[in-house]
Amino acid sequence: MVSQKKMNSIVWYVPMSGKGPDIESSCRKLQLLIKSSGVLDNIEKDDFTCIKLHFGEKENTGRIRSELVREVASEVSKKTKNAFLSDTNVLYKNSSRTNSVDHLKTAHAHGFSIEKTGIPVIISDGLFGRDYMDILIEKKHFKDVKIARDIAACDKMVVLTHVTGHMYTGLGGAIKNLGMGCASRRGKYEQHSGAVPTVEPEFCVACGLCRANCPAGCIKMENGKANILSGSCIGCGECVVVCRTKAINIKWSEKLENLQEKMVEYAYGAVKAVEGNAVYISFLLKVTKNCDCIALDEPAIVEDMGILASRDPVAIDKASCDLINQRSGKDIFKEVNPITRWNVQIEYAAKIGLGNTAYTIKEI
Ligand code: SF4
Ligand code: SF4
Repeated sequence: MVSQKKMNSIVWYVPMSGKGPDIESSCRKLQLLIKSSGVLDNIEKDDFTCIKLHFGEKENTGRIRSELVREVASEVSKKTKNAFLSDTNVLYKNSSRTNSVDHLKTAHAHGFSIEKTGIPVIISDGLFGRDYMDILIEKKHFKDVKIARDIAACDKMVVLTHVTGHMYTGLGGAIKNLGMGCASRRGKYEQHSGAVPTVEPEFCVACGLCRANCPAGCIKMENGKANILSGSCIGCGECVVVCRTKAINIKWSEKLENLQEKMVEYAYGAVKAVEGNAVYISFLLKVTKNCDCIALDEPAIVEDMGILASRDPVAIDKASCDLINQRSGKDIFKEVNPITRWNVQIEYAAKIGLGNTAYTIKEI
């Protein structure tokens, strides 16, 4: 079960200095981190163990390298034969991860095949993202949450996170990987549905890209300008991403805070679904402004920092941001995504008992 910790949570850290450490060196450091931290030690023989990660949108280059995932898969496989890699399908229509067929092809194209990692890939919420289990949480926004069925069925979960910024939540860390990443499609909709963007007509050139990419079909062209029918909008953010003139925006509002709080409650439910048996490894490598859903080769916003491990998703996210901001000499997350405050999710997660903001770094 999820519990509020009283003492500082431990975050193990293996630093990597300089730009772009080579992959062999990164793999060795990851092995050292796993061994020194002991985060995989609780996995028992035959435990069904989900290694949760983001396989990266087609054309995205920021995702965790498959060589690093193979190291984790190899260590987990020494403990159980029932390990698998997993993610869930996304809300957007024009994605290479909208259904399990496309999603598996994308994962394999990015090196996440059984031949390369030694374990299979299972998309945990079924062919169209409809398979979930209701997990009772009784929090402010949700009484229960809809967690992908095959994740909820597991004994253990190892959460691998490529730490990034995010246009709506400010931070894409372990909490987001749990909250949004373990939610079924309906669960993602429940989290997003409060965030409706608006069009600034003076910047709209009527190219129609937003309408063509809107999965809910709720953008109409009226008087030569895009118009969003807010009642049908599912808040997925596709239109914000595709608009080249920046005519579509979500302004900072309580709604974005709500999105973060909802995501945290889903994260709480994901951890509860595996009875608290989740551990976290976060990669501060090629940290980008946006998450791995973006089909781009984005530049890094800070030099490569290293890899962290912890049993606490809140502590590892807080430590990730603190390390990155210290290296940047400023709040780089706020600078690259100024419409939201990244720490809302961390503060709320601590408040509802998902983890602890107080941490002690153990450098390896
Ligand atoms: S993508 Fe942007 S510029 Fe094009 S129609 Fe939509 S709002 Fe207007
Ligand atoms: S209007 Fe934009 S945010 Fe709303 S459903 Fe359409 S693409 Fe998604």
